[in-house]
Amino acid sequence: VLIRLDTSRVLAELERRSLKTVLIVAPDGLLKKANELASTLEARNVEVVISGEACYGACDLKEDVAEAIKADMILHIGHGLRVSRAGKRTFFVVAEDDVEFNKVIEKAAQILRQFSRVGLYTITQHLHKLAEAKALFEKYGFKVKINDGGKLSHGQIIGCEFQPAYAAKDDVDAFVFLGQSRFHAVALALSTGKPTYMLDPYLEEVTDVATLAEDFWRRSLLAVYKARDAERFGIIIGLREGQMKLHHVERIREGLAKHGKSSTLIAMRDISAERLNTFSWFDAFIQTACPRISIDGTCFDKPVLSTPQAYALLNLLEGKDIGNFLRSPTWI
Ligand code: SF4
Repeated sequence: VLIRLDTSRVLAELERRSLKTVLIVAPDGLLKKANELASTLEARNVEVVISGEACYGACDLKEDVAEAIKADMILHIGHGLRVSRAGKRTFFVVAEDDVEFNKVIEKAAQILRQFSRVGLYTITQHLHKLAEAKALFEKYGFKVKINDGGKLSHGQIIGCEFQPAYAAKDDVDAFVFLGQSRFHAVALALSTGKPTYMLDPYLEEVTDVATLAEDFWRRSLLAVYKARDAERFGIIIGLREGQMKLHHVERIREGLAKHGKSSTLIAMRDISAERLNTFSWFDAFIQTACPRISIDGTCFDKPVLSTPQAYALLNLLEGKDIGNFLRSPTWI
């Protein structure tokens, strides 16, 4: 698979401003690309530092790291938003995946024959293939709906926000997710409540994610019911800048207190089962940082609720119907 970095904008920016030090932030899979970019920049006399910490999304800009090492600019590779929620130094560098969707779309056209209107959505690295994919589906006789919404581009979803798809849900019979991310496809299904198919261009496979989505939903629901009996809660504040949702923390904490539950605030950057096991005296955790941590099949020993699950818990404690709490345009 060929990943291409759109470096033209970066180089133009370098021409425009005289930069001394640049911090490069990238997800693990693109660190090698980050290294290549570092060499290009160093040849132009820019000092480069690559962030060696995990980066999972556009929520994790590492502006604080840039501040600490006095970098003038952050080149954030592989994630992107239409409306930048980027801090003052961040510059998104698009990483385009060259993989073709033609064959898997041809397969999907057969499998999806019972639907006439489909919504097409994908993640950042395939966005440049969307127009081509749309034209192909139309050639096979489908009506295709693609929206933008919130801070996301036309046809884009991220792991915690689905506004463009959510806005289109009443105008389509099914959603098509272009890409290999099981989690994003399931999240699209759970957020919209519509039949959703994942089109994996690498394996050329079309998967109806209904069973998987049902499984994720049951586990999310079960965690909420388990947390109902907990007395002592650890409430985790995410330290990555886009994950620091203090307003939720406050509201959730007050809600728990109202029902006689005690809670302690914990600040964390990396939320893992191993770290949480250290806090053995809590019965359950709530983390307002990243819904994927709680929903994406991670096996924690105790309930670890994401924000929508935490509000569902408060409703449950109030004796209200908790409904379909993941059916929502956003999970943060
Ligand atoms: S799903 Fe998690 S990692 Fe991805 S953008 Fe949202 S908060 Fe960040």
